[in-house]
Amino acid sequence: MAPTFTHEFKTESFNGKTTFQTGVFIGGEFRDGADKTTIDVINPTNGKLITQIAEATAADVDIAVKVAQTVLETEWGLNASGELRASLLMKLALLMERDLDELSAIESLDNGKTFGWAKGTDVTFSIQTIKYFAGWADKISGQTIETDEKKLIYTRHEPLGVVGQIIPWNFPLLMFAWKIGPALATGNTIVIKPSEFTPLTALRMAALINEAGFPKGVVNILVGYGQTVGQAIAEHMDIQKVAFTGSTLVGRKIMAAAAASNLKNVTLELGGKSPNIIFDDADMEQAVNWAAHGIFWNHGQACCAGSRIFVQEGIYDEFLAKFTAKTQTINVGDPFAPGVDQGPQVSQLQYDRIMGYIDSGRQEGATVHIGGERHGTEGYFIKPTIFTDVTPEMKIVKEEIFGPVGVVIKFKDEEDVLRQANDTVYGLAAAVFSQNINRALETAHKLQAGTAWVNCVNQLHANVPFGGFKQSGIGRELGEYALHNYTNVKAVHVNLRHTK
Ligand code: NAD
Repeated sequence: MAPTFTHEFKTESFNGKTTFQTGVFIGGEFRDGADKTTIDVINPTNGKLITQIAEATAADVDIAVKVAQTVLETEWGLNASGELRASLLMKLALLMERDLDELSAIESLDNGKTFGWAKGTDVTFSIQTIKYFAGWADKISGQTIETDEKKLIYTRHEPLGVVGQIIPWNFPLLMFAWKIGPALATGNTIVIKPSEFTPLTALRMAALINEAGFPKGVVNILVGYGQTVGQAIAEHMDIQKVAFTGSTLVGRKIMAAAAASNLKNVTLELGGKSPNIIFDDADMEQAVNWAAHGIFWNHGQACCAGSRIFVQEGIYDEFLAKFTAKTQTINVGDPFAPGVDQGPQVSQLQYDRIMGYIDSGRQEGATVHIGGERHGTEGYFIKPTIFTDVTPEMKIVKEEIFGPVGVVIKFKDEEDVLRQANDTVYGLAAAVFSQNINRALETAHKLQAGTAWVNCVNQLHANVPFGGFKQSGIGRELGEYALHNYTNVKAVHVNLRHTK
C-alpha cells in the first residue's frame, strides 16, 4: 500500500515563494509518521506558526533502517562506484546552487538568522561542503602493505552500512551537509534526524536529493523529538554508526545508548566555551571587530562562539570602550530586513535559557555592562550583552550560554591567560590576537582546543578538520579526516605461495 501523506508547506509570505512536502521522508517518498502526529514549526521572529509537519517516531526509524539496508545491498554501498557517488553529490550541489535564494529564505524564516548570513554563510558553505565531498567520492582507497614476498596484503575502505545522524538547530542546513557529505561519499546509507525546531531546509533537501537521482532510500529524513527518534537511532541494533552534533549533555546519552546496544561507532561534535585572547600588542581595531563577530555571530548560537574574551590588563579599558561601541552598532531586528545584523534566538526555550543565564550572572554579582534584556515586544530577540566583573566560578563563565552573551575578563600575562583559558571542560575552539608571531603561535599551541585561530575567529572551511578536545567531542568533521568516520578498514591477506 502506498504511504499516506498530507503535509505540504506553501508560502509566498517571505523573501520569495516556495512549495514543498513536509512528511517523513523514507525510501524517496514522503509519508505520515507511524503515529500520524505532527510538529508545529514556529517562526522565531513573531512566535507564530509557520506550518505543521509530520512527526516521525521510533516505529519510523525501524522502517527507514530496513529501507536503507535494502538499498545499501542493492544500489548503494559496494554496488555504487565512486564515480556515481561523486556525480550524484555534484548534481545535488548544483541543485542547491540553483535554489540558493529559496534555501536561504527558508533557513532564515525557520531559524531566525538573517537572510544575508543564511545565504552568504550557511547555504553557500553547505554547497561547498557537498562539492568537497563529491571530490573525494572517487578517491576512497586503501593501501598495499609490504610484509614479505609470499604475500600480497592490501586494505579496503568499505562503507560502514546504515548510519544514523542527529543534528541541531543552529546551522540546520550546514550541519545536514557536514553530515551527509562524507557519509555518502564513502557509500553509506543514512537515517538523519534534523532538529524538531528547524526541520524545513532538510525537508526541502529531500526533494533535491530525489531530483539529483540518488537511489530511493539512500537518504532518509525523519523529523522527530530527541527522546523518541534520536534515542531510537542511538540504540538501533542495525545502525552501524551514530554521528551527533549537539549539546554535551545529550552527547553523553547518545554514547551510553550506543554502548548499551550494538556498540556502534560514535562521533560527537559537542558544545564549547571558547576563549578569545587579546594581547596588548594586538591590532586593536581588528581585535574589537573579530571579538564582536566571535560572540555575536549567529546570535551567539555557535558552538565555537568566543564567549570568554580575555583582555590583557594594559589595554583592558580601551578595548572595553571600543568593544562596547562596536556592540552598540549591532542592528537587531527582522532577519529579512536589509541592514539587520542579528535576528531572534531560535525558540522560546532558548530565549528563556539565555535570559536565565543573564539573571544568574546578575545574581552572582557580575555587572551587565551593556544589553541584558529583551529587544522589542514580540519574537525571541535579546540585546547583545556583555558582562564584566566576573569570577571563574560563575555560571556565565563556566557554562555554554548559546546566546549573544559574552564575558570580558582581564588577564596579566601568558601564564595567567593560559591557565584561565584552559580552565574549562570544553575544548572546541580558541582564538589569540597578537602582532607578535612567536607569542601568538606559542599561545595557540598551548590552548587545549581542536581549532586555534590567530588574529581571526569562527573561520571554517570544508577542507579543514573541525572538532573538539576534552568534552567538546570525539572525531573530526570536514576535511579528509571526516572520511575516516564513515569507513571500515578491511585488511586482505593473499597467500601467493599456497603453502603453509
Ligand atoms: P541538543 O543536544 O539539545 O539537540 C541536538 C539534537 O539531538 C536535536 O536533534 C535533538 O532533537 C536531539 N536529541 C535531544 N535529546 C536526545 C536524546 N536523548 N537522544 C538522541 N537525540 C536527542 O542541542 P541543540 O540545543 O539542538 O544544539 C545546541 C548544542 O549543539 C550546543 O551545545 C552547541 O554547542 C552544539 N553544537 C556543536 C557543534 C559542533 O560542531 N561541535 C555544532 C553546532 C552545535
